[in-house]
Amino acid sequence: MLPIDRQQQILNWLKEEGTLRVSDISSRLEVSEMTVYRDLKPLMDTNKIKKTSNGISTMESHSLPSDSCIYCLKSTTSRRSVQLVKKDHTIEQTCCPHCGLLRYEDIKEDVVQILCRDFLTDMTISGKTATYLIDADLNLNCCQPQVIAFDSRKQGEQFQTGFRGKLHNFQQAISVISRDMQESGCCQD
Ligand SMILES: [Zn+2]
Ligand SMILES: [Zn+2]
Repeated sequence: MLPIDRQQQILNWLKEEGTLRVSDISSRLEVSEMTVYRDLKPLMDTNKIKKTSNGISTMESHSLPSDSCIYCLKSTTSRRSVQLVKKDHTIEQTCCPHCGLLRYEDIKEDVVQILCRDFLTDMTISGKTATYLIDADLNLNCCQPQVIAFDSRKQGEQFQTGFRGKLHNFQQAISVISRDMQESGCCQD
């Protein structure tokens, strides 16, 4: 068996089993542990696998948990989280419409759908037809400028009556946030 074949075999096992011990690999492949280490080295160098306390595992199981925002790494467990559905059927999550819109602007060619939730009803709505209230007088402890999504303009207006802020459609909201971010420079706090 060539090193490349052994590497492929190791990757296949990892895909099925998650983690492997070097001693197991060595006995399964009937090669020395030294040889196994040599096979593993390039896989580690290219970040395909990772060393763990009791062996090796695939990188995937150690990648970012899906409950952190792809844009700013805050938690996406709140009802303000936004999903970006991409052409390759993968889904990216952001903590709130602020990050959702900025992320959309970065990768819009790859996005087939952007989904957020109406702030009042918690219903899933299309981000492209939603109304956004920016800088309302209500601290939700997420990204600034704060962005809240509403299903209808009417609801946004009703909310605005109490909490102020400015209403925008999808495209306007993106340009307002992008401009604001360029001026303030950072979205981490
Ligand atoms: Zn975020
Ligand atoms: Zn946020």
